[in-house]
Amino acid sequence: MPPTNHDAFWMPFTANRQFRRTPRMLVAADGMYYTSEDGRKVLDGCAGLWCVNAGHNRPRITEAVQKTIATLDFAPTFQMGHPLAFQAADRIAALAPGDLNHVFFCNSGSEAADTALKIAIAYHRVRGDGARTRLIGRERGYHGVGFGGISVGGISGNRKLYGALLTGVDHLPHTLDLERNAFTKGLPAYGAELADNLERIVTLHDPSTIAAVMVEPMAGSTGVLPPPVGYLKRLREICDKYGILLIFDEVITGFGRMGGTPFASEKFGVLPDILTCAKGITNGTIPMGAAIARDHVYEAFMNGPETGIELPHGYTYSGHPVACAASLATLDTYAEENLFERAGDIAPYFEEAAHALRGLPHVIDIRNVGLVAGIELSPRPGAPGARAYEIFDRAFHKGVLVRYTGDVIAISPPLIIQKSEIDQLFGTLADILRTVE
Ligand code: PMP
Repeated sequence: MPPTNHDAFWMPFTANRQFRRTPRMLVAADGMYYTSEDGRKVLDGCAGLWCVNAGHNRPRITEAVQKTIATLDFAPTFQMGHPLAFQAADRIAALAPGDLNHVFFCNSGSEAADTALKIAIAYHRVRGDGARTRLIGRERGYHGVGFGGISVGGISGNRKLYGALLTGVDHLPHTLDLERNAFTKGLPAYGAELADNLERIVTLHDPSTIAAVMVEPMAGSTGVLPPPVGYLKRLREICDKYGILLIFDEVITGFGRMGGTPFASEKFGVLPDILTCAKGITNGTIPMGAAIARDHVYEAFMNGPETGIELPHGYTYSGHPVACAASLATLDTYAEENLFERAGDIAPYFEEAAHALRGLPHVIDIRNVGLVAGIELSPRPGAPGARAYEIFDRAFHKGVLVRYTGDVIAISPPLIIQKSEIDQLFGTLADILRTVE
């Protein structure tokens, strides 16, 4: 069927009018590849949207979804339960590091972010510390598109149309430093001291007013910004010093993306008080997100009257049976195929392939951790983002799907990627970079 020209589908985060002139349509997916509407195989260089970590069309997951939808198509989780939700929560808690043992289900990364922020503010309130309401995020932070997420997030383009947002929010500086850290492989050496801005903001407002700090361990959507060595640990120390909760948004970094461990928290050796995740939780198949709290956070809520609702929050589809089944089958797939370890094993090859683009026209930085890489380009004069868009569009027509954000090409393939596919991915980008204006 040819793409329609009408405007019924108002596309998210898309230049809608431009897209209708030059549509890029996908009609099927299997393993590492999409099929485009004109019948071409397109190598998936970004795991859909950072979510299809086990690759596409995994029978174990699709069968679990089919079976569950035919058995228990929906069940409420408000004052009711179903076994799949408890099983999925158990499995996710077991995978999460430390005593991150309590899983609040929602349907997306955005909902997970807003859930975590609400839990953090309510946590202080139920402990009798209700003056702690201020939130601290970071420039270039992305926590989805809810009002909480865009307020704490630090992307002006996502904020400016939407009015006053949440009050009482401050932002740490972002950690990108092209002067000192360009072309670093893995974590940049310089910038841990940027975490000390937290101390400055906290003392400016008085620590007794601060509820939580929320950051992505590695910012993904705003151009792949790995944390400087020691930076996250410093944030943790300052939070501990002042009784502030630390929230890690692991929507991108979760489920093996960083290589070797299920979550970035473990990889970087810093345990947050609340961890949010989504995307890879169901391998992208069924919408799901979660905010996972540590024991002390959960227990703070479990002290009131037994019949009282401890947290007045939740979604109709929190712990949806089909999503829970998808998640259980996804976690089985990750475990059976050792995909997190595999990602760690192939990451050095991926790193070399990414950094081989150094020296090509327009490339001003290359950043990577695990199976994520960002290639930063010099912007086309007067047209920020235009060069990256052109590369993204040409790559798609040459059979490789990548993402672009500003002037950064982001690559985050399924964790099942083979060396030959890594070669294809970066080889295609190299060819395009040599000829792009
Ligand atoms: N947090 C982070 C770190 C993300 O990368 C994203 C999505 N890319 C979100 C939150 C929002 O997730 P969703 O689009 O599922 O709402």
